[in-house]
Amino acid sequence: MNQLKQFPYHDILVLGLAKSGTAACEILTRNGCIVKANDLNAKSDDPAIIQLKKLGVEVVTGEHPLSLLEGIDVIVKNPGIPYENELIKEALNQKIPVITEIELVQYLTNNQIIGITGSNGKTTTTTLINEMLTNSNQPNKIAGNIGKVAAEVATTLEENETMVVELSSFQLMGTETFHPKIAVLLNLFEAHLDYHHTFENYQHAKAQIFANQDENDFIIYNADDADVNEMVQTAKSMKIPFSTKQQLTNGAWCDDTHIYFKDKKIIELSEIALVGKHNLENILASVAACLLAGGTIQGIKDVLTTFTGVKHRLQFIKNHHNRLFYNDSKATNILATTKAISAFNHPIILLAGGLDRGNGFDELAPYLQSVKALIVFGETAKKLEAIGKQVGIETIIHVETMEQAVANAYEHSKEHDVILLSPACASWDQYRTFEERGDMFIKAVHTL
Ligand code: ADP
Repeated sequence: MNQLKQFPYHDILVLGLAKSGTAACEILTRNGCIVKANDLNAKSDDPAIIQLKKLGVEVVTGEHPLSLLEGIDVIVKNPGIPYENELIKEALNQKIPVITEIELVQYLTNNQIIGITGSNGKTTTTTLINEMLTNSNQPNKIAGNIGKVAAEVATTLEENETMVVELSSFQLMGTETFHPKIAVLLNLFEAHLDYHHTFENYQHAKAQIFANQDENDFIIYNADDADVNEMVQTAKSMKIPFSTKQQLTNGAWCDDTHIYFKDKKIIELSEIALVGKHNLENILASVAACLLAGGTIQGIKDVLTTFTGVKHRLQFIKNHHNRLFYNDSKATNILATTKAISAFNHPIILLAGGLDRGNGFDELAPYLQSVKALIVFGETAKKLEAIGKQVGIETIIHVETMEQAVANAYEHSKEHDVILLSPACASWDQYRTFEERGDMFIKAVHTL
């Protein structure tokens, strides 16, 4: 098991005891640090907390007393905790550094790391790179949102094993020295402004992915995104652009027929199983990362000809009597749903609706031209129905359950139609998670 080397802190407060906090406590105590942990909501008799206490961690639950800062060298913060938290504010006031578990990775391993960030497409790209490397016989482990806690994975890396890690802006904000050998910056949309407050702060957090890189590292970036383009100008690492719009001599690009890396032809577009122009961007970034990390063209092709999407992200489910069913339950906002609709050339029956956040759906209207029927549900059903009527969709059906939604969609479909769950809303009004919503859709499709 890899140990922390030259970690500059000894007395540590871990704030937030979710998966990443618990893993950080374990790693830090194993490496001889003095660790206190604090969580507002955790219960002191929780088995995970009893286990931490056994390891020697002092655990405080139910409050955030400022006295916890006494004698502390650093706070390891759960990425979800905002910087407005009183304890964090006071720590910064006292010049106590605040890091996230991602920073530990730098002190746990010297292995090759591929870090992926961006507003959208992280999970898809991380999964693609992981599969492409695996199919190229390049040993690697996946970490981040879809996999395990990055620091925990870093302790288990064998020699020559690459770590492919998905990184959010929240995680990156708490890094000081962390620098992946290969960084991927997919795109930047206005996102998470409730946390970062301004677009500049958000940009700054994302820029941490390359801020500590040097001339031997790589930054793969979206050359078609003006904000991204501008940001990477300050990077010291080798710049590897990708583009769906222009030919590139030093990066990944495509024309109407093929994907290329520099002057090498990689694959014909018609052979690619994954749909959607946005996914083409994710694919270009993945091709560049895989080849730079030692992968092969054959390994890339094996994945691209068979990979039909990460679960719940424009995931192909089934061809049932020549109707194609897709599950895009992860589309919890309007932008994601517009991307999903734009991915198809055939008429779409759209299943949408969910938690009402108070927003309107006007931005969806221009994309509804290819939607022949709209099945709506959840708190936003009426709003979606109104926008459907406004653009002249004839068949609009208000249902209560996913079974009814799928059954109605099928009933109103013809051969070659696409039946797409892409709700444009969060799921919490009717389901615990977007995964549960997607699973209900899959089940309903399979029982047709
Ligand atoms: P993330 O992990 O960043 O949330 P995912 O890969 O899980 O991204 O994709 C989430 C949703 O974002 C998808 O369902 C799709 O609608 C949209 N999306 C994926 N890739 C991109 C991209 N490159 N550009 C814009 N939108 C995208």
